[in-house]
This record gives sequence, structure tokens and C-alpha cells, in this order.
Amino acid sequence: MIELNVAINNKYYPNSQQAVLAQLDFTVKPGEFVAIIGPSGCGKSTLLNMISGLEDCSGQHISYNERASQKYGANDSGVNNQSHQLGYIFQQPRLMPWLTVKENIELVLSPSQYHKIDGLLAQVGLDNKGGYFPSQLSGGMQRRVSIARAFAINPQLLLLDEPFNSLDAPTAARLRQLLLDLCIQRGTTVVFVTHDLSEAIYLADRIIFMSHSPSTIVHQAIVDLPKP
Ligand code: ADP
Ligand code: ADP
Repeated sequence: MIELNVAINNKYYPNSQQAVLAQLDFTVKPGEFVAIIGPSGCGKSTLLNMISGLEDCSGQHISYNERASQKYGANDSGVNNQSHQLGYIFQQPRLMPWLTVKENIELVLSPSQYHKIDGLLAQVGLDNKGGYFPSQLSGGMQRRVSIARAFAINPQLLLLDEPFNSLDAPTAARLRQLLLDLCIQRGTTVVFVTHDLSEAIYLADRIIFMSHSPSTIVHQAIVDLPKP
């Protein structure tokens, strides 16, 4: 299981006078589910992109299990280097439209692992949809594919950026439960970005509240409710 350590002093985008993130310091314990809440534009996606290595984090400290992460340069994809540990689920499912459901999941696997796909699709309730194209699926089903794809690599650390936005309430509720089951089953360490407090309370062990940019942690709360 993975522990995540984050210590960001000041994160600037190039050509920007103001820091996006400032003095942001936290640890996510192995198997812990942390939700991050903050106003739109405060830097939540930036934070996840830095943790994943998609965004430059030179000068900052981000490590898994106290192992300093690689220095991320322009030619160095931190995501690939960490790919066996890190899953990232975005706001949009980001499926390849010209590939079937099964082929979208094959993308992240080696051929010797393709046999896992049917079981994964069953777990997310898409048993018979492997041969469908994304455009033939509802929004909720597309998201379930993106969840299956993220779990296909057995991530030890999972990042989620408002994955249930713009879904109808029953679909979102089903997917929350699915996510929780998968994470608890596997002891996944999770950082979950949302602007929905009730969603955070439902899912998380701990909630971190961020302020407006330059964004910092204004409050942390332990959620002391049994998991459904
Ligand atoms: P959130 O996810 O909380 O909505 P973001 O991390 O997307 O916030 O953005 C935080 C701030 O950084 C915003 O003001 C946004 O406009 C700015 N920003 C995000 N990405 C870039 C970028 N690549 N270059 C410059 N500014 C950016
Ligand atoms: P989200 O709510 O997921 O952050 P946004 O619409 O804010 O979505 O951002 C979409 C993408 O555009 C992100 O990858 C973000 O980094 C980038 N982005 C956001 N704001 C800016 C900006 N001011 N300049 C350059 N890129 C930006």
C-alpha cells in the first residue's frame, strides 16, 4: 500500500504573477481515502496533475512511500514511470472513440493481462459491452469504462478529478458505491477532488478544504462515519 507525501511551497504557472498553490502540505496514509474540496479555479486539478507528474513539480516535494519521485522534465513522463502504481480518473472519461470498450482497456495492459478485462467489465456491470464503441454507451456507462480502465492496472494510488460531474443523481450514487467497493477491496490510497461536500462526506476518511488561489489548506476534518 502506498503513502503519499506532498509538500508544495509555491506553484507558479509560467507567465503568471500569482502562485496557484502555496504552502500546501499533507500526507495521505496507506489505504486512506482523502477528499479535497475547494472553490472552482483554486488549483485542485493542478494539484492532481502535479501528484501524477503531468504538471511540473520541480522544487516541490512529492513522494510515494518517502521515495522522492523522479524529477519531471519536459521529456520525462512521470505517469509512465509510475504507471503500475498510479491511476487517474478525469472529469471526462477520455475514451478513444475509435476503439471498442475492450480495446480502450487493452491500451493500458500488456497482452498477457488481457484475460482480466472480462472480469473487470463484469465488476462495473458492463458484461456484454466489450465490443461496443464509446458513442454507443450512455455517459454513466462511459464513466464505468474509465473506472474499469483505471483499476485494470491495479493502482495503488488513485487520483480522481470530479469524476461524477454532470451525471444524473442515481447514476452518480451507483458509481460512488462502485468506487468505494473497489477501493476498500484493494486497499487503494485515494485522492478525490470534488466541490460537493456531501459526496466528500460519503466517500472520504478525511476531507481537506482548500482556499482560493494562491490556494492553501484552510481546514481538515476526519469523517468518522462507517463506510456504507
Ligand atoms: P480547479 O481544478 O480547482 O478548478 P485548476 O487547477 O484547474 O483549478 O486551475 C487553477 C488556476 O490555475 C486557475 O486560475 C487556472 O486558470 C490556472 N491554470 C490552470 N492550468 C493552467 C495552465 N496550464 N497555465 C496557466 N494557468 C493555468
Ligand atoms: P477543470 O475544472 O477540470 O480544471 P478546466 O476547464 O478548468 O477544467 O481546465 C481544463 C484544462 O485547461 C486543464 O488541463 C487546465 O490545466 C487547462 N487550463 C485551465 N485554465 C488554464 C489557463 N488559464 N491557461 C492554460 N490552461 C488552462
